[in-house]
Amino acid sequence: MAQLVKNAVKAGGTASDFTGAVRTCIGCRQTAARQQLVRLVRSTSGSGEPEALVDLRRRMPGRGAWLHPSPDCLQLAIKRRAIGRALPGITNAGDLETQLANVSRDGIQSIRTDIVPL
Ligand SMILES: [Zn+2]
Repeated sequence: MAQLVKNAVKAGGTASDFTGAVRTCIGCRQTAARQQLVRLVRSTSGSGEPEALVDLRRRMPGRGAWLHPSPDCLQLAIKRRAIGRALPGITNAGDLETQLANVSRDGIQSIRTDIVPL
């Protein structure tokens, strides 16, 4: 009976490989290059409610938050109420799930979703 001993992979070294800005995912709290994360911004919906939008071009004005384009990270962010903290006023992240699903399906092709399992 073989016993698998998994060495914990330490994150040391990877951060220095990134060129450019590094951001923290509000879901899993891991840092990643901007290119690997999607930007969320606070916007106002037609009815005047604050809402979170996925900022595909990363150019929308206003306060931003960064998240892996992964349902897992979104769920973590919701659980931790991290979205409301990062984007004050946002209370409902329901639509983000759909937006993120679109992003990972046909959105940012250059994003490699090599998500580190938790
Ligand atoms: Zn994440």
